[in-house]
Formats: sequence, C-alpha cells, structure tokens
Amino acid sequence: MSEAIRITKATTRKPKPRDSELGFGTVFTDHMFVMDFQEEKGWYDPRVEPYGPLTLDPAASVLHYAQGIFDGLKAFRARDGKVRLFRPQKHVERMNGSARRMCIPPLDPDLALRSLTTLVGLDRDWVPGTVGTSLYIRPTIIASEPFLGVRPAKSYLYFVILSPVGAYYPEGMNPVKILVVDKYVRAVEGGVGAAKTPGNYAASLYAAEEAKHQGFTQVLWLDGRERKYLDEVGTMNIMLRLGDEVVTPPLTAGTILPGVTRDSALTLMREWGLRVSERQIAMDEVRAAAKNGSLREVWGTGTAAVISPVGELAYRGERIVINGGKIGELTQRLYDAIVGIQYGTAPDSHGWTVEV
Ligand SMILES: *Cc1c(COP(=O)(O)O)cnc(C)c1O
Repeated sequence: MSEAIRITKATTRKPKPRDSELGFGTVFTDHMFVMDFQEEKGWYDPRVEPYGPLTLDPAASVLHYAQGIFDGLKAFRARDGKVRLFRPQKHVERMNGSARRMCIPPLDPDLALRSLTTLVGLDRDWVPGTVGTSLYIRPTIIASEPFLGVRPAKSYLYFVILSPVGAYYPEGMNPVKILVVDKYVRAVEGGVGAAKTPGNYAASLYAAEEAKHQGFTQVLWLDGRERKYLDEVGTMNIMLRLGDEVVTPPLTAGTILPGVTRDSALTLMREWGLRVSERQIAMDEVRAAAKNGSLREVWGTGTAAVISPVGELAYRGERIVINGGKIGELTQRLYDAIVGIQYGTAPDSHGWTVEV
C-alpha cells in the first residue's frame, strides 16, 4: 500500500510575479514537501506544508560536514494548460544515486515521485505559461542529527521546494564564452564528482569567480589527474561535434554528473542516426580540431538552459572560436527537440514526461 501524504494548506497565498519579472531561484511557491528519517523508523510522515523556514539544530551535521544531496528538474505548462514534469523518474533515480554515495538512506522511488507530483499539483497555478518559463523543482536531503562526530547521521530531512523561473534565453540563445581551467580541479576518480552534493558547488566557486572576472560565463573543468581531458562545465555536461562524430566525456570515471539532459540528447542523436561516442577528449584534440577545421559545434547540456551553445573556449591564453561564435545547426536542433517535448508541442515518444 502506498503511504498517504498529509496535506496542510497555506491559509494565505503569496502574490505571483509576472512571467516577465521572473529570474532564477528567487521566488518560491506557497507550499513545500517535507519528510523525516530516523534510524529506528526509516522515512516517515510525508507531508505538504505551507512554505517556510526550517527549524534546525545548530549542531545538525549537514551544517558542519555537508552530508547532503539535491537534485533539480522542471515542470512545464503547455499551451493547452497541461502541466508536465520532464523525466522525474530519472531524476529520482539519480537523487538516490547521490544519496547512496553520501551515506544517506535512499527514498522509496514511488513516494519520491509522488512527492513531486503532489506538490506541483497543489501549486500548479505557480507554473508560468510563457514560452521558455518553467517551474524549477528542488528536492533536497540534509543530515539533521545534532551531532559533531564525523560519521553518517542518524536523522535526515527530505524537502522539496518550487520556484517559478524565467526564460533562460529571454533575448534568444546566445553562445557563451567558457574558460578551460587547469589550475583548479572539480573532481577526481574515486571522489564525489558524480553526486549532486553541496560541497562540490562550494568547491567550484573560487575558479568560477576568477573566470567571471576575466569575462567568462563558466568554467570548463579538466580531469583531476592529468588536467588534460574534458570533464564538464559548472552545472552542465559538455558535447562537441568533431567532423561527423559527436563526442562527450564518459560517465565511467565517476567524475562527472550523469546529466538527465545529457542522456536525453544522446538518446535523440542516436535515434537521428548520428555517430555518437562517449569517450575521453583531450584538450589537445580540441585544439587540433579547431586548427584543422573539424571542430564544428560545442554545447553544454543541463536542466537550467537545456542546451547552451558555446561560442568560445579559452585555454592557456589561446582563444578557440567555435562556428564563428554562432549557434550550430545540431545545437539548435537538439534544443528545439527537447523543448518541444517539454512543452508538449512535439510527441513524447519516449514517455519522458509525466502529466500532473
Ligand atoms: C545538474 C548538473 C548537470 C546537469 O544535469 P541535468 O540532469 O541535465 O540537469 C551537469 N553537471 C553538474 C555538475 C550538475 O550539477
């Protein structure tokens, strides 16, 4: 039998911003989902409550040792008013993968899916309707046990919050300039690079700030051992079109985040009959391809932007301009295909969307 979700509705409703005023992650809806874990009880008391501050003991271990994980996915409103989540089961699966790596007890996948659909269903009026806008969904688990020893906590809190977000490209898709860093690294084999865990993001800030001061939007990380092979971008996986091959770094080393958008793009491109390889790509190979003209397109994949064209890569003082700094044809095709499925303007032949 599936566990019942207790619902306490908010007595007052917050004003909703206009779609044109939406940014990213600053406005939150009327409700949140919460569930507790205790060693002797397991996960218990799944509930929806009015959105508000959490009460946390200052000794809660997440605040000291960052034992926590999160995920990020979106709900979209179609022109006919229908609201759909994009690949929520895949996100739940990844969230549980992150949880296991951080010694956090995994969630029952069905209950986790229902936590998302129930909450979005209740706050469905918050899903914006303008093209490009969406409702960002942030499920999170934190270690809540008040204990300062270093070991896995015995109590946890799972919560889900929702944030209406504006169009990522209000003025159309603009290729970004990315700095390839070899002074800092994000992840190493055997580390936690494949988990969406808070510490990875705190650790990335310094390099990202340096890149921003130099006029770049993001950092492209190289492998932690040789600082030679491409890993990924800040919060996006990276793909390149080299000649008639599409390449992207493999998940096997466990150093990059297994992106759901990455998986969607790979699935589509394979169906389109393109030659797609998940393999190591050395920065030297990218430089050589740029020189001989076979570097045709570069783009990032991630829930926030879906597909983000890369117009320039800067590496050791050298500037590699891609496709004259313009959006590539395959980059655009992927963007249109995924966005079409998300907003229900293209058929969902993979069963990727879940209607709320
Ligand atoms: C979330 C994230 C991605 C993209 O994953 P999606 O599931 O496509 O959103 C890529 N890299 C990092 C480091 C991330 O945190």
